Amino acid sequence: MNRIYLDYAASTPVSLDVIEAMNPFFADKFGNPSSLHSFGREAEIAVDDAREVISRFFCVDLGEVYFTSGATEANNWILEAACSFPFPKLGKKPHIVTSTIEHESVLDTCRQLEKEGKAEVTYLKPTREGVVRTQDVEASLKDTTVLVSLIYVNNETGVVQPIKEIGKAIERFRIKSKSLASKTQSFPFFHTDAVQAVQFFEPRLDHLKVDAMTVSSHKLYGPKGVGALLAKRAIPLRPLIYGGGQQLGKRSGTENVPGIVGFGRAIGNLTLHAYREKERKHLEKLQNLMASGIIALKKKMTIVCKNNCSPHILNVIFHGVESQMILIGMDKEGIAVSSGSACSVKALKPSHVLLSCGYSSNDASSAIRFSFGRFTMESEVKRVISSMGKLFKRISA
Ligand code: PMP
Repeated sequence: MNRIYLDYAASTPVSLDVIEAMNPFFADKFGNPSSLHSFGREAEIAVDDAREVISRFFCVDLGEVYFTSGATEANNWILEAACSFPFPKLGKKPHIVTSTIEHESVLDTCRQLEKEGKAEVTYLKPTREGVVRTQDVEASLKDTTVLVSLIYVNNETGVVQPIKEIGKAIERFRIKSKSLASKTQSFPFFHTDAVQAVQFFEPRLDHLKVDAMTVSSHKLYGPKGVGALLAKRAIPLRPLIYGGGQQLGKRSGTENVPGIVGFGRAIGNLTLHAYREKERKHLEKLQNLMASGIIALKKKMTIVCKNNCSPHILNVIFHGVESQMILIGMDKEGIAVSSGSACSVKALKPSHVLLSCGYSSNDASSAIRFSFGRFTMESEVKRVISSMGKLFKRISA
């Protein structure tokens, strides 16, 4: 049985050219980039090359790219760091604004910071359509707000957030508070978790009015265990990890050279605009095909994303059918889909994202996320639709 993978939002296969680019850095060019000899230098050059490709893609300086072990670390880092920004409001707790539809790596970090008394956190609720509204962000800003952290494309629903509009609103707030305080006021900074976004949407920090961004390689046909925090120099970023002083002393630890090389290549592959457009069109076609096929099954269901949807995700609530039942039924047919975020599905909890959008607990336990990628074929989507049809017949028999 040929297996079908419709879980690209959880992880993507590593593309062959990325594997080829990484290969020499395991057993041949295996030096430590901090070493002064030629083995070290060739590793260092490879890391520098990857940094350059990444800095160009996101339009940031070389010194604004910090490699991490992935997006989870990058999200933890910026939120932790925000609590120790040199903050002029002595005696007051730093305030962080985020939303209830963030990835767990943001939500759990925020909850921990609150528990430790390090920050006060506002969790904004989205609309029914899963959008965090700019006016809600604006209304939440205070003179103690040090960081706003919002997801760019939601990993469960695929809804694209108005990041640029929010970025502009934060900038307006900064300008206003600067003139009121008549001194330099650079708070709050704006961070976005762009893990699910950078393949298809504007990645340049300045264009988005974003000060920091989280990215992960394994969602972009690169290897797992590597990602980056892109942080503008103006951010007084303290280290999360201390040690040998690598990466400007901000993120110590020997760099994951093969991983970084692969990540650089994966980002390099995204730089061709025509290629991105082609891929986007391919995914839109698959998404439409899947949506119309599902609608034709005449099952009671809701497609979660209505407008501004990323082309790689289709989240559908099949009312009255537990997602676990569909997941297991599909897996028996060799079809991989998901009920939401890969990190939380094992917990068998209703989706916190759908609950936040106002869906009932039953509905939030009945969602299936289909996510498509570069190698998904139309014939596969058709087979999935037909298998879903058969499964629903079995369930209702
Ligand atoms: N943020 C988002 C939006 C994600 O989708 C994921 C992966 N599920 C992460 C963060 C965590 O990424 P990583 O696996 O690189 O830690």
